[in-house]
Amino acid sequence: MNIILFGPPGAGKGTQADKIVQSHNMFKVSTGDLLRKEIGKKSNLGDKIKLLINKGEFVSDDIINNLIIKILSDKKLYNKLIFDGYPRNLTQAENLNSLISKHNQKISCVLSLNVDKEIIIKRVLGRQTCSKCGLIFNEYFNPSTNDNHPCGDKFLVKRSDDNEKIILNRFENYMEKTLPILDFYKKLNLLYEINGKAKIDEIFKQIGGIIASLET
Ligand code: AMP
Repeated sequence: MNIILFGPPGAGKGTQADKIVQSHNMFKVSTGDLLRKEIGKKSNLGDKIKLLINKGEFVSDDIINNLIIKILSDKKLYNKLIFDGYPRNLTQAENLNSLISKHNQKISCVLSLNVDKEIIIKRVLGRQTCSKCGLIFNEYFNPSTNDNHPCGDKFLVKRSDDNEKIILNRFENYMEKTLPILDFYKKLNLLYEINGKAKIDEIFKQIGGIIASLET
C-alpha cells in the first residue's frame, strides 16, 4: 500500500505520517525532509534549495523528481510508502503516476487533511522538530514530554521557514499550485477527506479506519 498525505503546510501530515510508519511498518517520504538533508550537506545544490525554502517558494520539479526516482526504484520500499508534502503540483502528481506504474506499484489512497488557515498558522508557529529522532511536536498543542519523547527537550529545533511571513507565502502557493491536485485524485477515485482540525489521536483513528477498509 502506498499512501499520499495531502494538506496545507501545518495540517499535521508529518505527525500522522510518523504514526502510520510506527503502526503499519511503512516508510515516510517527506520531500521537505529530504531537501533539508541536502541543505545540511552544505552543497551548492543545498544552498540553492535553502534560498527557495526560506522564501516559501517551491523547489524545481526536476530536483524533486530525482529524489523520488531513487525511492520508487528501491525494492525494499516497494508498496510501503507514505508521501508527505509530495506531490505539490499537477506536474509532480502526473509524474508520480507514471513512475508508480513504471515500477509496478500503485497509490492506494490520498488522505486529505482539512484545516483552516487560522489553525495552520498557530500549528506552524508552535512546531518543533527533534534533530535527533526526527519526531515532530508542538509547543502549544502537542509538547514533547518524558512519556512521548525519550530524547528530551534539548534536541528540539524550529524550522527556519516556520515564521509568520513565510507561512503566508507557503499557504498562497498551496492554494494556487497544490490544491488543484485534489481534483486529479478525485477523478481517480483515490480521495478521502479527513477532519484535520480534530485531535492528533482522533485524526489517526480516522486514518486507521480508512487503511483497514482498504486492506480487506
Ligand atoms: P515541508 O517540509 O513539506 O513543509 O516543505 C518545506 C519546503 O520545502 C516547502 O515550503 C518547499 O519550499 C519545499 N518543498 C518540499 N516539498 C516540495 C515539493 N514536492 N515540491 C517543491 N518544493 C517542495
